[in-house]
Amino acid sequence: MTHPTPQTMGQQFGRRSWAEPWKIKMVEPLRVTTREERERALAEAGYNTFLLRSEDVYIDLLTDSGTNAMSDRQWAAIMLGDEAYAGSRNFYRLEATIQQYYGYRYVVPTHQGRGAEHLISRAAIRPGQYVPGNMYFTTTRLHQELAGGIFVDVIIDEAHDPQSLHPFKGNVDLDKLEALIRREGAQNIAYVSLAGTVNMAGGQPVSMANVRAVRSLCDRYGVRIFLDATRMIENAFFIQEREEGYANRSIAEILKEFCSYTDGAWMSAKKDALVNIGGWLAVNDAELFDELRNLVVVYEGLHTYGGLAGRDMEAMAVGIEESVQDDYIRARIGQVRYLGELLTDWDIPIVQPVGGHAIFLDARRFYPHIPQREFPAQTLAAELYLDSGIRSMERGIASAGRDPKTGDHYYPKLELTRLTIPRRVYTQAHMDVVAEAVKAVYDARAQTRGLRMVYEPKYLRFFQARFERLA
Ligand SMILES: *Cc1c(COP(=O)(O)O)cnc(C)c1O
Repeated sequence: MTHPTPQTMGQQFGRRSWAEPWKIKMVEPLRVTTREERERALAEAGYNTFLLRSEDVYIDLLTDSGTNAMSDRQWAAIMLGDEAYAGSRNFYRLEATIQQYYGYRYVVPTHQGRGAEHLISRAAIRPGQYVPGNMYFTTTRLHQELAGGIFVDVIIDEAHDPQSLHPFKGNVDLDKLEALIRREGAQNIAYVSLAGTVNMAGGQPVSMANVRAVRSLCDRYGVRIFLDATRMIENAFFIQEREEGYANRSIAEILKEFCSYTDGAWMSAKKDALVNIGGWLAVNDAELFDELRNLVVVYEGLHTYGGLAGRDMEAMAVGIEESVQDDYIRARIGQVRYLGELLTDWDIPIVQPVGGHAIFLDARRFYPHIPQREFPAQTLAAELYLDSGIRSMERGIASAGRDPKTGDHYYPKLELTRLTIPRRVYTQAHMDVVAEAVKAVYDARAQTRGLRMVYEPKYLRFFQARFERLA
């Protein structure tokens, strides 16, 4: 089958082609390796793409975290760093930008997302309390558990079905949430941990109607809602595209309305905010802010830098302004979708509908002959690297870890390999190369065998685990 061109795809899907609203000013050369070099590199890395050296990678789709290309305005902002220990002018600019676009009152900077998760978990969870959320995220849940919280997944069932075409697969199941509140009592719910979009479900969005309904349910019981706003701009795009009444609202307006239904948010700025490092936490409650401002000094740094250089905060403020531009986010998600459409045309099993930041290959359907305990998604990531030096990552049983109570693996319904697209980094031609590599691995699937874990770290094992090929 021939490639659909952007033009034919445009006709097929009833829309005009898009192009990036930027041009390239600086380039970074890429190295192409041989199959033998990749065999050696992967064996040395224990078949874990996190343990590869980036030098040995051709197209790096490991993550969209901190891998963004900054704009000329952001690089210029780097030169405006005010590296004062206290009261840096860059902090006040960042604070004002977050207040303007996200709408929260009090802002605490952190070195990255998990720094913010650590602080909010400590400040807002009493040991033994429940933390309902729309599917888990690795670092989020770990910090909630380390603070003594008990995470409960209250996402709608469709989120666990990679073939469901529900337009808002990140939605909270209101019945599941209310049942939990009634069973355990509102005083035993720390807060609702809401994420937009939901990374582990495939970058799937939450609708405005859903967050509004969660708000009114929580108001009835006096439960707070905190938002993981890491990819909330991407979530806003899906609301604009799919939800009635939002087609003519700007991304900035949608973002602010969504946030207004929550009591605070944390963010990994390494994603939506178009920087390489940074994060923040913002709340409306003065007392909670006081506690967070105390904690940040212990774990991150003074409350006007939170582990960041002044220049990092300045670049983040500019990145936030750029991230809410409608033409930027349309091209960002358009590129992800382009790759998804190539793969769909070749009948390669991926999570549908295509989400905001990545294509998720469905390793269960890709390798039906490999049982989950033999790590099919990890295997697929390894095979893709061997074929063409493309780095992806596992989002399946290795990422899910173990149940602290039973010690057995969690067996997640979704067994996925993620092709994560960095923002403003790769071109459409790179996406073509990626699609062809996935197809080559798919065509060779019958001969592929699974993996055995030979080293297992205690926390977030997927980062550093090592594997061997099964004979
Ligand atoms: C990346 C991420 C985090 C953690 O942020 P870091 O900056 O990597 O520490 C939290 N939540 C979500 C949804 C993320 O994608």
